[in-house]
Amino acid sequence: MTAKRENAADKRERWLKLEFSTPPELADALANYVTELGAQGVYQEEVEPFAPNDRPAALDTLNAFLPVDVRLGQRLKHLDTYLGSLKALFPDLDAVALKTETIDDPDWGEQWKKYFKPIRVSRNIVIKPTWERYTPQGSDIVIDIDPGMAFGTGQHPSTRMCLEALEEILLKDRSVKDWRVLDVGTGTGILGIASAKLGAERVVCVDIDRKAAEISRENVRINQVEDRVEIVNRDVTSLNAQFSLIIANLTAKLLIGLRAHLVSLLADGGYLVLSGIIDQNRPEIEPRFLAPPFVTRRTLTEKEWVCYVLKKEEHTP
Ligand code: SAH
Repeated sequence: MTAKRENAADKRERWLKLEFSTPPELADALANYVTELGAQGVYQEEVEPFAPNDRPAALDTLNAFLPVDVRLGQRLKHLDTYLGSLKALFPDLDAVALKTETIDDPDWGEQWKKYFKPIRVSRNIVIKPTWERYTPQGSDIVIDIDPGMAFGTGQHPSTRMCLEALEEILLKDRSVKDWRVLDVGTGTGILGIASAKLGAERVVCVDIDRKAAEISRENVRINQVEDRVEIVNRDVTSLNAQFSLIIANLTAKLLIGLRAHLVSLLADGGYLVLSGIIDQNRPEIEPRFLAPPFVTRRTLTEKEWVCYVLKKEEHTP
């Protein structure tokens, strides 16, 4: 497995594991915050999703990993302030509790594999971990993913909604003859690989994270779409090309910062799928993106997550 090889080769790498006990109502906001803070491998365990009504729901466990580097102290300070503000904003909920542990084990990336099972994410698409078996049925499009330390197993609502949007655009819009797709922040490569399997002629997956680029390259190879999918280890702002479909599952803050670049990378008449946005960030996103040069095609929601399908109007100045 890629992750295993990489971690074994890089034994000096150390991570701080953060284990939060959180009221379920705050789990998504917290996951979003730690991702924005630079955490990796963020995953949630719903201990008791259907607690009986006569007693309070159990707390969820949220795990995340921060690299032990020069920024750690500052990040933990920000986190502390954030947890303090959650407590002030939601005085009726239990306070979020945090346990930390330093991880030196080069194999630690393996432990979260047990939470990743084959999952149908849309009408046709099934995401399956490389180490599980799944027999495809009918028109199933199966995507094999070995996530290593990268984000993107299809289990997160923000990724799942992107896959649903991609499926609809690529399978239904026959007006585009030559799909050129840009996957911004590819993580495991999941959205870029899905685009290729849904018929896109050319896909560029970009990620600033070196590990994500390596992991996604391996997943592209496993899915045998190397001929159509290119992985680029760069910041998306350094690209200069035209795409007919751009998918960006990031965070509201990152999306707002990238807006001008996304507009210039998208061809007239092209689609932009925006995801990674939580409900409370809609007021910041909507005036900037649900406005010219974009028209809104669809708004998908799941739990507190929102995903927009936008189309760039043709012949805008
Ligand atoms: N596309 C996957 C993973 C999303 S996680 C999915 O939908 O599940 C977001 C990824 O964006 C991270 O891997 C992060 O490294 C990358 N990223 C963040 N800002 C970026 C930028 N400016 N340019 C390229 N990649 C970026």
